Amino acid sequence: MIAPAPAAKAASPERYPHRDLLGIEGLTAEQIAYLLDKSETYVAQNRQVDKRSAILRGRTLVNLFFESSTRTRTSFELAGKRLGADVINMSAEGSSIKKGETLIDTAMTLNAMHPDVLVVRHQESGAVALLSKKVSCAVINAGDGSHEHPTQALLDAVTIRRRKGKIRGLLVAICGDILHSRVARSNIQLLNIMGARVRVIAPPTLIPAGASQMGVEVHHDMRKGLAGCDVVMMLRLQSERMQGSFVPSVSEYFHFYGLDYEKLEYAKPDAMVMHPGPMNRGVEIDTEIADDISRSAIAEQVEMGVAVRMAVLDALSERLPNFVPGNGN
Ligand code: ASP
Repeated sequence: MIAPAPAAKAASPERYPHRDLLGIEGLTAEQIAYLLDKSETYVAQNRQVDKRSAILRGRTLVNLFFESSTRTRTSFELAGKRLGADVINMSAEGSSIKKGETLIDTAMTLNAMHPDVLVVRHQESGAVALLSKKVSCAVINAGDGSHEHPTQALLDAVTIRRRKGKIRGLLVAICGDILHSRVARSNIQLLNIMGARVRVIAPPTLIPAGASQMGVEVHHDMRKGLAGCDVVMMLRLQSERMQGSFVPSVSEYFHFYGLDYEKLEYAKPDAMVMHPGPMNRGVEIDTEIADDISRSAIAEQVEMGVAVRMAVLDALSERLPNFVPGNGN
C-alpha cells in the first residue's frame, strides 16, 4: 500500500497561494522558504527505500518539452511518479508541433484531456505564462527562453542552504553567459529576495543591458569578482541562443573566465562550486574542479532537483480542483 507523505500532514494552503509556478518573480521570501522547507522533507523521503507517497494519486502530470532536457525532465518525471501521479512525457519531436500546430492549439488539445499539472519548457521567453492562461490545470515553468527557470533556482537554494546553513548574508558569484541564462535570472531574484549579495562575472558581451538594476554587482575580471565569495555558480555558454559570436574563441574564454583552481583561490577557502548542467568541461569549468566533491556541489544539485520538484508539486496540489485536505489525495 502507498503511504501518505509526511509532508501532506504539514501542508498549509495559505503558504503557497498560487495556482502555477511561472517564475521566482512575484514570490515572497516566506513562500520561497516554505518551498525550501518542504523540499527537505522530500530529500529525506528520497533517501529511503520506499520513496513513494500518494499526494498526486489519480492525478495526471504532462511534461511538455519544446527544448531538450536531461535533468529537469527526468526529475519532474521521477517527482510526479514518486507522488503517485500518472506521468506522460511529450516532446516537440514526434508531436503535431512538427506538423505546424501552434503552442496554444497544442495546449488546448492537452487541456481537453484533463491533465492536472503541465510542466512546460519552451525556447521563447514568456511562452509558458501565455500557455498558462489558456489551460485550466496548474502550470510549472521548466524554463522559458532566457527568462526564468524557477525550479533550478529553488534547487540551487536548497543546495546552498544545506552546505552553508543559510542564504542570508552570503556572497554569491554567478559567472559566464548571464545574457542568455534563465538560470541566472531566476537565481538573481531568489538570492536577492532571500538576502544574499550577488555578483555577476562575464565579458561585457555576455552581460545584459541594465544588469546593475537587477540588484547585482557587475564584474568583468574573474579574479576580482570571485574575491571573498562563498558560492561560485558557473554557467554554460548558451550557444543555442546566440546569433553571431560572443567570445573570441573557446580557449580564450576558458583562459579568462573558465573556473580553475588558480582562479578559485580568490574566493573564500571554503567556497562551494555549483553548475546547473549540462557542463562543458574545459570551456567554463575545469574538469577536476567539477569532480572535486570537497568543492563541487554539482551532484548534490541534481539530487535536490527531484526533492524540490516534489515539493513544488505538493504545494501546487493544494490548489488543484477536488483537493481534500488530509486525505492523502
Ligand atoms: N539546464 C539549464 C537550463 O535549462 C542550464 C543550461 O542549459 O545551461 O537553462
